[in-house]
Amino acid sequence: MTTDKNTPKFIFITGGVVSSLGKGIASASIGSLLESEGLKVTFLKFDPYINVDPGTMNPFQHGEVFVTEDGSETDLDLGHYERFTSVVTSRKNNYTTGKIYYNVISKERRGEYLGGTVQMVPHITDEIKQCILDAANNMDVIIVEIGGTVGDIEGLPYLEAIRQFRFDMGVDKTLSIHLTLIPYIKTADEIKTKPTQHSVNKMREIGIQPDILVCRTDRTIPPEVKRKIALFCNVDPESVIIARDVESIYEVPLMLHEDGLDRMILKKLNIQAKGSDLKIWEDVAEKIKHPEGKVKIAVVGKYVHLKDSYKSLCEALAHGGIANNVEVDIQWIDAEEVEKRGAGPFLSDVHGVLIPGGFGSRGIEGKIQAIRFARENRVPFFGICLGMQCAVIEFARNVAGLEKANSTEFDGNTPYPVIHIMPGQEGVEKGGTMRLGAYPCILMPNSLAYNAYKSGKISERHRHRYEFNNNHRDMLIKNGMVISGLYPQQDLVEIIELKEHPWFLASQFHPEFKSKPTSPHPLFTSFIEAAAKRSKGI
Ligand code: GLN
Repeated sequence: MTTDKNTPKFIFITGGVVSSLGKGIASASIGSLLESEGLKVTFLKFDPYINVDPGTMNPFQHGEVFVTEDGSETDLDLGHYERFTSVVTSRKNNYTTGKIYYNVISKERRGEYLGGTVQMVPHITDEIKQCILDAANNMDVIIVEIGGTVGDIEGLPYLEAIRQFRFDMGVDKTLSIHLTLIPYIKTADEIKTKPTQHSVNKMREIGIQPDILVCRTDRTIPPEVKRKIALFCNVDPESVIIARDVESIYEVPLMLHEDGLDRMILKKLNIQAKGSDLKIWEDVAEKIKHPEGKVKIAVVGKYVHLKDSYKSLCEALAHGGIANNVEVDIQWIDAEEVEKRGAGPFLSDVHGVLIPGGFGSRGIEGKIQAIRFARENRVPFFGICLGMQCAVIEFARNVAGLEKANSTEFDGNTPYPVIHIMPGQEGVEKGGTMRLGAYPCILMPNSLAYNAYKSGKISERHRHRYEFNNNHRDMLIKNGMVISGLYPQQDLVEIIELKEHPWFLASQFHPEFKSKPTSPHPLFTSFIEAAAKRSKGI
């Protein structure tokens, strides 16, 4: 590996003590701070599991699958990266151990190792280093986040690779930031630094001396504790950054800035930057802290017990709130409960109903009941992907009178397959038929969608197998359904709406992936606006 003047700087983020410290948010926040200094930033997330990507993993285990523009199915941290910065991620920004091994084994099969013995070091570690270099191309800084916690067996090849990287690149090109926890022990009334010390020791055993420590805590940390951590962990006291718990994740960049994290990073990497401007984050934090009202949005879904399964969706709803100066209170409703008890008990006092994406037949009838309730009671309704397919089924059954209308995903023998797999795609292996990533969509003038986007041509991300069945299109239009968005190349229905309703719209794509706190998505802005009107009785 060679270095030259144009080589980017590399920041490695690792975590210690416990999982769920918010490494993804910390990485994304660092990215936003560096972007605000005028630097060109990108990210790379390594996930130390053997699945080649999270596409086939159960959302209950893994959380949301984040879909990128180029259609790769990635870790939800990439969602944080995109929401906090202007970075548009792709397949280059997320690697799992499975993918790394897959690449190495494919090379071995092609004879690219010229008969050599293929080993963890150097072949796997070289592959990891190559991924970092590929993703860093043309950038000023790359932030590389290593999933998991130091000490995990799975994480070792990555830590070894970044240890080598510092040798390859030189000291002023790389920076190691380690995230730890400073717990408070109630019975002793004491703040404990020992877990941080142990975690840093673990890093040093592996050959990495962290340059900066970011310590999560729920309280103010006195200077002497900072000094103690610095002494025992072999860093200077200004490199011990305190990351207090904050109410909203969007306050994290400001909080890290206050404790000097960006200043330290620039100093240690020897970067001359233009001076930060954090006005956009101050505005976002201000709006979140001082909403002028509150709207209750029911999200009727299947994975409601693990909120991470709907990460981008929750964020996009919050962004819609920011755009309308209201707080969005999400009521999580299990679709199977609606099936048992009906929609009324759950939806009577909400200001909007949202049915998110999903797979499989569990809870489908409950979702359809919820949509019927929203349609008949004029509650603002937003359907996304599976939510759109359910809205088509509901309309076909209860408005157009197509009894037993369904998607062939749930009923292969339905007399009215209003949602189906397109001819030519049946029987193809599951992953092979997914429509993934960004597709253009043309909007119908004067529609709800057109007025929200203020544009006639948009592009949104997809992740689904089934489509609106065009054989039933005329019949549904005749009964009052508005088709307001189309993918013209294949004449596929992308958006449906209802006219005689305050706000009823459903999209085949996933708009939540493109919403940011600094530029809320137009459909979420418009939906929350309608919900806010309902909350005020307008
Ligand atoms: N299960 C549906 C399909 O595959 C919807 C997918 C989704 O909501 N992401 O088409």
